[in-house]
Amino acid sequence: MASLLTPESVTQITTETTFALKSNQLAQQLLANVMNLPINTALPEHSWLVASTPVGKGGLGIRDSTNEACISFFCSILRSIRYATDKITFKDGTEIILPTHHKDLYADWQTSNTRIFTTFRSILNNLLPFITCPDEIISQQQKISYVMTEIKLEGLQRKIKRNLASEKIQKYLEDVTKPDDIRINLPSMLSGTTISGTMNISRTIPHNRPNPKFFRLALHRMLRTPIPILYNKTCCQNCKNNNNTNIDKYGDHIIACHSKTAAHNEIRDSLATIIRNTATITNDIPTENHISLEPVGLTPSHPLKRPADILLYLSDNEQTKTTKIAVDTTFIGTNSRSTAELEVSRSLMTDKVFRHHEAAENKKFKGPNRPGTPGDHIIKELNDNNCRILPATFDSFGKLGPAITDFLYGPNNEYKTFKRNTETLHAHAKQAIKIATEKNRVHSLLTRANVDWTTKNGKTSWYTTSYKAKTPSMWAKQYLCISMINALGKHLHQGIAKALLQTKNTSKLNTAGTRQDYLSSKHRESASNASPPTKQPAPRSKTTTTQQLRNRNTDRDTVGREWRRAVPLDNNSQHTRAHTTRPPSTTHPASQQTSTTRPNGQINQNNQ
Ligand SMILES: [Zn+2]
Repeated sequence: MASLLTPESVTQITTETTFALKSNQLAQQLLANVMNLPINTALPEHSWLVASTPVGKGGLGIRDSTNEACISFFCSILRSIRYATDKITFKDGTEIILPTHHKDLYADWQTSNTRIFTTFRSILNNLLPFITCPDEIISQQQKISYVMTEIKLEGLQRKIKRNLASEKIQKYLEDVTKPDDIRINLPSMLSGTTISGTMNISRTIPHNRPNPKFFRLALHRMLRTPIPILYNKTCCQNCKNNNNTNIDKYGDHIIACHSKTAAHNEIRDSLATIIRNTATITNDIPTENHISLEPVGLTPSHPLKRPADILLYLSDNEQTKTTKIAVDTTFIGTNSRSTAELEVSRSLMTDKVFRHHEAAENKKFKGPNRPGTPGDHIIKELNDNNCRILPATFDSFGKLGPAITDFLYGPNNEYKTFKRNTETLHAHAKQAIKIATEKNRVHSLLTRANVDWTTKNGKTSWYTTSYKAKTPSMWAKQYLCISMINALGKHLHQGIAKALLQTKNTSKLNTAGTRQDYLSSKHRESASNASPPTKQPAPRSKTTTTQQLRNRNTDRDTVGREWRRAVPLDNNSQHTRAHTTRPPSTTHPASQQTSTTRPNGQINQNNQ
């Protein structure tokens, strides 16, 4: 096999062919389209990196043609060679040896100068570093022979793709020429807790159909692409010292500036639902009633304080003294730690992301620090009551923090390699952390739920009725992802309304922004001063809708639908005016709906 990979014996291939690049470009345009970015926008490099990362690694799973063609070719030829020269083994153990005329076709793959084999050898050479081999296999020769004769073919293609993706991400993280804010937040963007979880869900379940506006905003967050409505917007109307705060086009400021309560509550409820359904399978709690939201009376000296968002009353467990778990949800903003020395761990998690979550968790372990509520005292009472504190943090990309990850998915997670900073904490907080990380704590809830559920119901049964989730953990992930999309999307949507218009009323705010919006505003800016500033600000109250009605109705005149002239578009005035001017048979609620979401008269004209 010595001459196997010499330059003469391989076909020099380039993965970046015109076709592959063109195909990638099309995929990017499609994505830009979904997000309503302006026509012909090239997606930023990091967005394509996240989009083309496999779903298993937290990306969108869009296939990158430059790799995909090679990997598919490689795996199919490898399979053919294996089948022809060795044997075919079926799942039930039956083996078939192919006749010699098949075998002869593939037998000389190492030496043949046929293009198919020279290409195969070339790709084999390129992909070898991305194929995981046992530790004892070191030399390239051994590796080739292991891949050709022994490696398990099932799942090989997926594994190579994941390794390639890891390599790409790692390279990006270590490249100091890349933007700091992306490098620091990339592990969070690849958390896989938002859009990635919606790839295979049942749309027949109402919960699984998020509002398209929220979905789109969550997609903007995940790929970190500019949100169209925030183009050229500079001042935040919501900040106290307003008119000086810049709004960034990614929505980071809006996430930090706007009250996080709604998003917090959404995730709190979602976690409660997940824990209620899975902890009863594992018997960590005796019944569904042994879980309560924001209970009082946990701390005797401050009976009205509610230190827990979700309280679990655990089943009897001799191995641990803990009898209750107090889950406390926290929505933390975007990570803005300096990237000066970005340490990258093997699992593509960075120290900075860990510290970001750790800071929020430590705050929870310390307890509140307000007059009248001494944190250390409350934490002491919780410790004395055998109540474990479990901070459930999630960041502005939906990534879950170390403690809740440990509780749901188990200790073998990406945070494992990091050591927690506890120097600045008081003694009771340290004790709380000790209780939360003890060996016999309740953890790996979903992993254990899978095992227990399969044991009880057999391997062939489905956890949900919709044939989309085979195990409790699959369902939990889907459920959490949808909730996260709603939480982040709604938070951003309302935050944008407050930052731009100082209103919570978002019903008329089009954060999704259509391509038409963008083009019209562009056109207006450059072409004519005479056209009215139609898009912003959108209405804040009923008084402004009158102007809008006028705009709309003017549009309708231009398209010759005079009977609609006096038709009011908001429901309140409809009762007073609609009957007098409009034939009842021509009521089109759908068209009204479309119009009300678009305050821009000019846009309506374009659309009609
Ligand atoms: Zn602000």
